[in-house]
Amino acid sequence: KALVGQDKIRTVCTYCGVGCNLEVSVKNDTILSIQAPWDAEVNKGHTCLKGRYAFSFYNHPERLQYPMIRRNGHLERVSWNEVYDFIAAKLSTIRTEYGPNAIAGISSSRCTNEENYLMQKFIRAVIGTNNIDGCARVCHSPTAIGMQRAFGTGAATNSIEDIKFTDCIMVIGANPTEGHPVTGAKLKQFAMKGKTTIVIDPRRTELAKYATHHLQLRPGTNIAVLDMMLYYIIKEGLTNKDFIEARTEGFAAFKDSILNINLDQLEGVSGVPREQVRAAAIAYASANSAMSFHGLGVTEHYQGTFTVMQIANLAMITGNVGRRGCGVNPLRGQNNVQGMADMGVQPYQGAGYFDVTNPDYNRMYEEFYGVNIPIEIGLTIPQMYNAALDGKLKALWIMGEDLVQSDPNTTKVIKALESLDLLVVQEIFMTETARYADVILPAASFLEKEGTFTNGERRIQRVNKVVEPLGETKADGQIMVEMMNRMGYDQAPYTAKGVLEEIARIVPFFAGVKWDELGKQGKQWPVAPDGTDTKILHTDTFKRGKGQFFFREYIESPEIESFQQDYPYILTTNRVLEHYNAGTMTRRTPNVNIVDEDLLLIHPEDAGRHNIAEADWVCIESARGKVDIRAHLSDEVKPGVLSTTFHFPELMVNLVTSDVHDSEAKCPEFKVVAVRIRKA
Ligand code: SF4
Repeated sequence: KALVGQDKIRTVCTYCGVGCNLEVSVKNDTILSIQAPWDAEVNKGHTCLKGRYAFSFYNHPERLQYPMIRRNGHLERVSWNEVYDFIAAKLSTIRTEYGPNAIAGISSSRCTNEENYLMQKFIRAVIGTNNIDGCARVCHSPTAIGMQRAFGTGAATNSIEDIKFTDCIMVIGANPTEGHPVTGAKLKQFAMKGKTTIVIDPRRTELAKYATHHLQLRPGTNIAVLDMMLYYIIKEGLTNKDFIEARTEGFAAFKDSILNINLDQLEGVSGVPREQVRAAAIAYASANSAMSFHGLGVTEHYQGTFTVMQIANLAMITGNVGRRGCGVNPLRGQNNVQGMADMGVQPYQGAGYFDVTNPDYNRMYEEFYGVNIPIEIGLTIPQMYNAALDGKLKALWIMGEDLVQSDPNTTKVIKALESLDLLVVQEIFMTETARYADVILPAASFLEKEGTFTNGERRIQRVNKVVEPLGETKADGQIMVEMMNRMGYDQAPYTAKGVLEEIARIVPFFAGVKWDELGKQGKQWPVAPDGTDTKILHTDTFKRGKGQFFFREYIESPEIESFQQDYPYILTTNRVLEHYNAGTMTRRTPNVNIVDEDLLLIHPEDAGRHNIAEADWVCIESARGKVDIRAHLSDEVKPGVLSTTFHFPELMVNLVTSDVHDSEAKCPEFKVVAVRIRKA
């Protein structure tokens, strides 16, 4: 108790993957303010303006507060009992008529580990299908696959505190100043001291302005630049032979492929002069410790998974793995992206990343869940849209995801949702997706429930209830358990602690995670049964044994191949500091007074060519659709490249984005969209 009648309750920020600790002052079930605790290892007294000020959505008048069922075209208020009966009857009918694979679930990194675990368990053990996927599909799914192939583990190798111990930082495809502000501030301080900082990004981001090296490549050519860096490291004799010999495999063939790249071609397609690449390569390889960070500018590409693997190659070839101050460190866009994947929200891996097609693991899951578990891989989110449009997918349950606003090719997404017999949306607001729902389940926000989030450095932290759930809302975990039991499964009444105990018995790297022992700082997985946690992965060995080198040559995106003749500009999408993804929460806070619209960044030369002035309306058009947006002239982008955000439904920029996907993980290529422009 800090003040008379006022509590201070510690919890974890719901926005980005930094996972800042928050200290919430609350009185009479009302939040007064949010502070940043100084004793938090993650943020040590700092937050950004999202974590500290963007909380008033929790009691916003537009919160969904009771269950609803669509009847005669209108959503009608019903009781929880009625809505559970309705869903159970509909799902049972669909399963009997079309089989369990006609049903799918989409989970959310907005939700806790316990809730994600329950959602995938509901789909697998109660419905009987592996059709479970999550929003990581549209962000970091290539990271999970790429790092698993290289190292055996799809998670950050190091901790954020390692920034203090590194000599070189490489940030590729990320703008941490805006997307991950507390980590971004640490990176900016590093760069401002003049330390070796390499930024690989089509935009001259704030970090790029302070960097010693900025490789301003054409969007979609990360592999071309990384190939060139690897070429110069080998040519200059800067490889770490001891590390390669002792810890890796596949290097000889990899080296041959790299030495055979066509430098002229890669320099041409990337637009980055080879001498700039060579200088950055030498800087990275010469550092005692070099640490890389990557974001969605790496993953949201046709070659996203291969780019992640190429970043891993760069770390391995220079021996920058398994030590303090180095490694490969994905910057997770959402608070619990890591945890969602850990809990098995993927159609090909269950809780703990076990392959669902392996008969031994299938048996293990069957014994643990006490029912038959399917052995076939399920559908990813893009495959769910296609299956819905083909009439094969009949029911979809979406927990905490606004697909209509955040997924590419909005027109196709809407058509897919409209094709379903049953769309259940579990949400805190009437999102663009919820408008198409047959059933609405009102969920509690992060401030109204307990659980754990896992941040981008594998740190499992406790989320504590600050205020009581609004109206009739319930924690997502409670909804999942009640629904499981309504459909005949025997799941214990919901408590976050109880579900975490269950998770610790099936997920090996959670073996020593105990609710009462997480304390203020949480624990970084893997957590051994005795409770010891892990700051740095791969110190002695990789999970897969030896680190694996892979080579993949640069391939032009099909989006450019197909459309660039008629649509000569490349549009990329990104985020601003003040808003968060689809803006569902931040648009309902005072942050909207700072930024209230999406803008198009356009180079002054391009603007001049089209007679476009600052703040003019511009029509951007792709092969999928068109939108009107106001221009902001900026030389942060090169001529030929445009950039915008996707926070406001009034714009709905995903009407123009492409449904080209990463060839491996099926992550959409938001970062390369062929468009044309004209003054609107
Ligand atoms: Fe929240 Fe990320 Fe900001 Fe920290 S940096 S307060 S986790 S949004």
